[in-house]
Amino acid sequence: MSDNGAYLGRNVKDVLEKVEKAANKSGRKLEDICVIAVTKTIDTDRISKVMDEGMIHLGENRVQEFCEKYDIISKNCNWHLIGHLQTNKVKYIIDKISMIHSVDRMELAQEIDKKALKAGKVMDVLVQVNVAGEESKFGISPDTTLDFVKRLSSFQNLRVRGLMTVAPFVDDPEEIRGVFRELNKIFIDIKKENIDNIYMDYLSMGMSNDFEVAIEEGSNMVRIGTAIFGKREYK
Ligand SMILES: *Cc1c(COP(=O)(O)O)cnc(C)c1O
Repeated sequence: MSDNGAYLGRNVKDVLEKVEKAANKSGRKLEDICVIAVTKTIDTDRISKVMDEGMIHLGENRVQEFCEKYDIISKNCNWHLIGHLQTNKVKYIIDKISMIHSVDRMELAQEIDKKALKAGKVMDVLVQVNVAGEESKFGISPDTTLDFVKRLSSFQNLRVRGLMTVAPFVDDPEEIRGVFRELNKIFIDIKKENIDNIYMDYLSMGMSNDFEVAIEEGSNMVRIGTAIFGKREYK
């Protein structure tokens, strides 16, 4: 059932309608929100089908899985690396990925800058913030985010485009509205600083369970897996 094109088409349409509604609520349009289809565990046939439905932003969180899919799917799409990234794996993805969402330490930023220079590109990145301070999650703490971003401004081949967070998983997304609001506040505050070489234009927050609330609170980039592809089956 879930690999059926009509099923995926309906899901994409449904997600986009909800994105549009939430965007309108916060005075924006559907086009103002970048919707990333999160493809972990999903085979390339199904990924191609959602590309046919207009999804051109794709997100993976594991390097190896991404590289296997990239061999098959690399045209007419932008790949986002959304999961935790080991420093020694940067070299495998640097020339293939459009944006890295998970910069959370200096050592990683340095390696991205170095490998991007070698690849002759400027890598767009987001700084991952652990807003709720969950021990199980990666990310910079909210109170050191500005400082961390400032330290990234001197890199020539890495360009900070904004912030990202993975909110705690809860049944009712209203419970975490405050998490999104807090990150949006940090985002706006950093933007106001007008730091050289820092572009605060993307706020990546919101997943299947909470993207509407996240958009209402200022997100302009959502990462959606389950609501598009159905429940993931881990092997
Ligand atoms: C898996 C994943 C998502 C998508 O999760 P869904 O709940 O399936 O929408 C988004 N962001 C990250 C970082 C993920 O790992």
